[in-house]
Amino acid sequence: MNDVAANIEKINTRIQRACQKSGRNPDNVRLIAVSKVKPAELIEEAYHAGQKLFGESYVQEFRDKSPRVSAPVEWHFIGGLQSNKVKYLRGKVAMIHSVDRLSLAEEINRQWGKIDATVAITLQVNVGDELTKSGCAPDELEALVKAVAQLPHIKICGLMCLPPHCDDPEQVRPFFRQLRELAGQIEQLQLPNVEMKELSMGMSGDFEVAIEEGATLVRVGTAIFGARSKRP
Ligand SMILES: *Cc1c(COP(=O)(O)O)cnc(C)c1O
Repeated sequence: MNDVAANIEKINTRIQRACQKSGRNPDNVRLIAVSKVKPAELIEEAYHAGQKLFGESYVQEFRDKSPRVSAPVEWHFIGGLQSNKVKYLRGKVAMIHSVDRLSLAEEINRQWGKIDATVAITLQVNVGDELTKSGCAPDELEALVKAVAQLPHIKICGLMCLPPHCDDPEQVRPFFRQLRELAGQIEQLQLPNVEMKELSMGMSGDFEVAIEEGATLVRVGTAIFGARSKRP
C-alpha cells in the first residue's frame, strides 16, 4: 500500500480510537484531508483510497488545481479569505470554514445568490486570542451569528478554530473546550437559520484531543500528505 492510502487508514483508526475513548459515535466525526500545496494526483490517490472531503487554504491554488481533479471530491475552503476572491469559490465548495466577519459573509451571500444556491459555513473564532490569527473575538461571536443568520444564501452550521500550535496537544485542549462551550451558548439562543452541529477543530498534531472535546470535522494535512515545503 502506498503512503497516502496507508496514512489515511492510520488516521481513520486513530479517529475511531479517540471516539471510543470519549464515548462518541465515529459517524459524527468526519476527516477533511488538507491538500494545500499538494498536487492534483495526490488528491486523486487519496480519493481512491476512500477519502471524500478535501480542504484547501489558498484561493489561487484552489482555482488552478481543482479543475484538474476529476474525482467527485467534496471541497472545503478552510483558509483566510479576502472578499474579492470569494467569486472563485462560488458553487465549487461545500463549506467555507473561515468566515470571521460580516463583510465577508455578505460577499459570500452575494456570490451564492447569483447561482441561487446556499453554502454551509462555520464561523471562525479566535479562541487562542493571538494577535496574528484571524477569527472573530469570542465576545463578538453572538452579534456576528445574529447578523450572518439574516443572509439567505448562507447556512451557519457551526464553529471553527485554529488555536496556537503547541507541541503538547494537551495545552490546546482548553481552546477546543472553549469553542464547544461557545457553540453551546449560541445553540441556546435557538436562532433561525443557525445550527451548531459542526465543530471544525483539530489538525495533525492534536486531532485526537479535539475529538475528545467534540470535534465533528478534523482538518488533517501533514499526517496524510507529508510535510509541506512551500506555499504555491
Ligand atoms: C494547513 C491547515 C490545516 C492542516 O494542518 P496540519 O498540521 O498539516 O494537519 C488545518 N487547518 C487549517 C486552517 C490549515 O490551514
